Amino acid sequence: MLSRGTTQQSSAPYNRRIVLDVIRRQGRVSRREIVDLVSLSPQTVANITNDLQAIGLIVARRLRGAKARGQPPIAFELNPEAGSSIGISLEPGRASAGLVNLVGEILERREVDVDTHDQRRVLASMLGLIRELRRPASAGRLWGVGVALPGPLVKTDISFIGPTALEGWSDLSVLDELREQTHLQVFFSVDSAAAALGETLFGVARTLDSFFYMHFGVGLGGTLVVNRSAYRGANGNATEIGHIPIVPGGKPCYCGNAGCLERYLSLHSLAEALGVADAPDRDAVIVSQLERNSDPALLAWCRDAADRLRDVVCVIENILDPQTIVIGGSAPKLLVERLVALAQPLHHSVRGGVAASSDRIVLSERQEESSILGAAVLPIYNLLSPRLEVLQQDRRAEADVEGLMGQRDPSRVGWL
Ligand SMILES: [Zn+2]
Repeated sequence: MLSRGTTQQSSAPYNRRIVLDVIRRQGRVSRREIVDLVSLSPQTVANITNDLQAIGLIVARRLRGAKARGQPPIAFELNPEAGSSIGISLEPGRASAGLVNLVGEILERREVDVDTHDQRRVLASMLGLIRELRRPASAGRLWGVGVALPGPLVKTDISFIGPTALEGWSDLSVLDELREQTHLQVFFSVDSAAAALGETLFGVARTLDSFFYMHFGVGLGGTLVVNRSAYRGANGNATEIGHIPIVPGGKPCYCGNAGCLERYLSLHSLAEALGVADAPDRDAVIVSQLERNSDPALLAWCRDAADRLRDVVCVIENILDPQTIVIGGSAPKLLVERLVALAQPLHHSVRGGVAASSDRIVLSERQEESSILGAAVLPIYNLLSPRLEVLQQDRRAEADVEGLMGQRDPSRVGWL
């Protein structure tokens, strides 16, 4: 469902977001089509598209096969050169980053191994990554830096503990230092929420209003997206599915419980089964084992993990009735495809018989890059989406975006 504009004068920035949102979702759309899709007058839409063009956020292209006479049909698109942002994904032992433009293309990508127990080293790594990624002159305005981290990020019984989290961290003050040292806007979010927003803006969830996003990385996380906003819960810790006890009397978990889902369905769990849990070349070993597909430990783990996946899909569906469950994260796509295939047929649930089996689980097309993309989306989400109540924990840039989206005179925006 597309958002509707409002005629109140005070909502000009909101209406601009609505129009920008339609252009992004449609990819390429004429002024007349925009008028049909939003509840705004043709004149208002014309004013807004003129403004967005003047600001440089959209470009107009003449449609192919346009007739020579009369007004040439023009279509609008997001301007990929209108700026970029840097997304940094932190996982235990590794920082990956990318420079992402306004249409969700990753222009440059870097990755470094780092001892994530040591916040000083993590800060130095992030500064190095930003320095390297800022170089390309063609990238235009840098909207800011987004950092995605494994949750939960609010201090709870199960925050910052165990090998699937940023163990030993007690706070996120390192992000304040990142802001001070780079003089850039810095946003952060739980990795699953960031990646879910990335899928909403630029990925397989582009046309979905409500879905569940499962983040399969070193650990296992999840985010419920309702009306294209991430559902936060009481303290911003909602849908931390990795620590749901799913096997009675099962494997002890670092959170203090036993039988947690993440102990069966995560890269760390697989690495543990293969005997390479904390090895630096963990991912390479996993991929080569997957390709060979003969190790009994791997085959047994996959069967077991697929059983847990089938169960949790049923739980999620019966509780939340999402349009689909999108799976992304740093896990190799080959692995996720294998587990989803082994989990078939899925359990009966409220989605069974309503959604086709192939629609109940959809894999991210970005998979390993989904965290980077999601992190990079954080600084630009407000700009590109009319939904304001997103899971984004640094609102300092809001004034900047409001200034831009509320300005009629682009010369006053300060970045042209
Ligand atoms: Zn646990």
